[in-house]
Formats: sequence, C-alpha cells, structure tokens
Amino acid sequence: MKKIHMVDLQSQYQKIKETIDTSIQEVLNSSAYINGPYVKDFQADLEKYLKVKHVIPCANGTDALQIAMMGLGLQPGDEVITVDFTFAATVEVIGLLNLTPVLIDVEPDSFNIDIEALKKAITPKTKAIVPVHLFGQVANMEAILEIASQHNLFVIEDNAQAIGANYTFKDGTKKKAGTIGNVGTTSFFPSKNLGCYGDGGAIFTNDDELAHTIRGIVNHGMYKRYYHDVVGVNSRLDSIQAAVLKTKLPLLDEYCNARRDAARYYNNAFANNEHIETPTSSSCGQICDSCDCHVFHQYTLQIKNGKRDELHQHLLDNGIANAIYYPVPLHQQKAYTNERYNEDDFKVTNTLINTVISLPMHTELDEEQLAFITKTVNDFLK
Ligand SMILES: *Cc1c(COP(=O)(O)O)cnc(C)c1O
Repeated sequence: MKKIHMVDLQSQYQKIKETIDTSIQEVLNSSAYINGPYVKDFQADLEKYLKVKHVIPCANGTDALQIAMMGLGLQPGDEVITVDFTFAATVEVIGLLNLTPVLIDVEPDSFNIDIEALKKAITPKTKAIVPVHLFGQVANMEAILEIASQHNLFVIEDNAQAIGANYTFKDGTKKKAGTIGNVGTTSFFPSKNLGCYGDGGAIFTNDDELAHTIRGIVNHGMYKRYYHDVVGVNSRLDSIQAAVLKTKLPLLDEYCNARRDAARYYNNAFANNEHIETPTSSSCGQICDSCDCHVFHQYTLQIKNGKRDELHQHLLDNGIANAIYYPVPLHQQKAYTNERYNEDDFKVTNTLINTVISLPMHTELDEEQLAFITKTVNDFLK
C-alpha cells in the first residue's frame, strides 16, 4: 500500500483542476491581484453560506484573531479566557496585544472548553472568552453565551478548524460555527477544511459597528483614504487565494460529508476495541459522525492502554501518517507559562497530551485506505 498522508491536497486539486486553473488565470489576466473582484465575490458568497451579515477577509487565521480582539477594543491588562489545549495562535495574539491570557482546561470527551472551569476563571478583569471549536467540533456555545451575558463578556469564536459546522440550540435554532458569538475567526490555511493555496483568513460578525471598525483595522486603520484614525495592520486576502476559495466554497458541504463518512468508518471499526476511545460529543449528546456539529478537521482517538507512542511509531513504520495534536499544554509552554497556574487545574489536558492521536483525515480517503489504517491500529492494540 502506498504511504497514506494526513491530508491529500493534490488529489483534491486534481478533481477541480479545470475550474481552479481558470479562476487563477482570470486573476492573472485581470492584474487585480489585491482587492480584485474575486475577493468581494468570495466575501459575499461566504456571507450567504454562513448566514452572517459581515465577512471581512484577511491574511491568515492568526491575524483574524488579533484583529477581532483589536476591533473589540480590548486593552492591556484585560483578561481573556481561552483553552489550554489548542494551537498556540489563539493565546499568542492575546499575548501580542498585552492582554492577559487565562488558560483553562477542556472537557475529556469533546476536547472543548470546560464550562465549570470557565465559570471559575472569571474575575472582575475578565473581558472576553475565546472558545476554540477544536478538531472541527463546535463548543458548548449555549452555555458560553449564557455565562458571557451574565458577566458582560465578549465571545470570540476561534473557528479555524470548524468552518461549515452547525450548532443547534436547545430550542432547535441552528447557527453556523463562527457566527454565534460577537465575532468569529477562521483560517484558510491549505490543510484547513476550506483551504486555499497559500495563506488566508476571515473574520465574521453580525455587528455592523464592529464590522466597520474591523474593516478599517485590516487596512492600516483607514476609514477614509490616507486618514488613519486608529492604529491598524495590513492584513489582506489576495485575489488568487480568493479565486481558489470562491471555487471551493460550493464544495464545502460535500467536503464536510466526506470527512464525516471517513469518521463513521473509523468509529465503526474501533467500536469494539476497549483500548480506544473514539470521538464522542458532549454538547449535543449525539454520536459525532451523525451530527452536523462536527466537521472532523481532525479525527482524534484517545488510547487508553498507555501505548499511544508505540502506536504512533508502528503506524509510521507501516506508511500511515499520524500526528499528536497537541503534545505540550499551552500552560507549560515557555512563552505562556505563569506561576499562577496550578497543575491540578489542567487534569484533562495533562492526560490528553499522553493519550491523543490523530489519524489521516481528509476528503479523499478511500475504503481501501481506511480498511488498512483501521486493521493496522486494531491488530496493534489487541
Ligand atoms: C490554524 C489555526 C489558527 C491559525 O491560522 P493561520 O491561518 O495558520 O494563522 C488559529 N487557531 C487554530 C485553532 C488553528 O487551528
């Protein structure tokens, strides 16, 4: 069997090559490399898809988070609560803006922000909560919104991993991930669920005033040409990336379904293996592969018999890529450690770093590959 990769961007591209190549060629022919028609068209398409009033494209998902926090007017010393178990970008921008990051633990089943820990972490200085919809699954937004409204806090959704996912409220209302809090952010990094062929990102909000503020911030703080009202940044989605994204957006739901199908195959194959815990949902109570609250950016198992590292090597030896997301909790990273943190408050994250393993997950996995991966895992963890 040929080596199986974590993602297969080449096979995905081959299926849409003609339309992608045509759209890129159009940008080249137009010379409108920056802020060309494709950027505005993609923005409008994404607003429609997400049912959100404003999409503001920017250069990447990290910028998107930083700009969202700038747009909300967060000030040095303000505390921003986020999770210990995520990619560092989330906490990095909090640090860059001289805000005070407050890292908290996650839930053992969904890997998402722990609601009890969130309640405990709130102080008079808390200004915002940044839930991360980790691995493609929407966090418990209903509880988060309730806490935010009680304490008058902003909610910034880091939706870099869950674009296309839906969240269903208790009353049946559905909203797209990233459009539920005051502001949401995403990344179009190539391996993300909606990836371009370089860097890209976007910010979402239904708040007209915030959208206006953010549109100025991404463009050097200009609201009128050459009048700089606030300190801004330069963060743009370029036209070639927008052309790729406009072409791929209509396929996003299909891509999400392909990922869910692969997850279902995995879940069934591992259902009877006592050493493996498959992804389960806590916020909606359904099995993840049948619920649209999870778009499986990653398919992540917990290995219960202490053999995670051996499995990691065994799979590599068999030509099966796999990854440990994330091997070090943020509160233990040199850049983000702080004496006020207490190891007892990070029990779940401290366990997950030793048990999680992510298997190949993308839109092009076929049954032969899935059969080989699951057999290799099950034979090793007998
Ligand atoms: C990828 C990612 C980001 C950053 O996105 P970039 O486009 O790489 O800057 C932020 N947060 C999370 C959770 C991510 O997975």
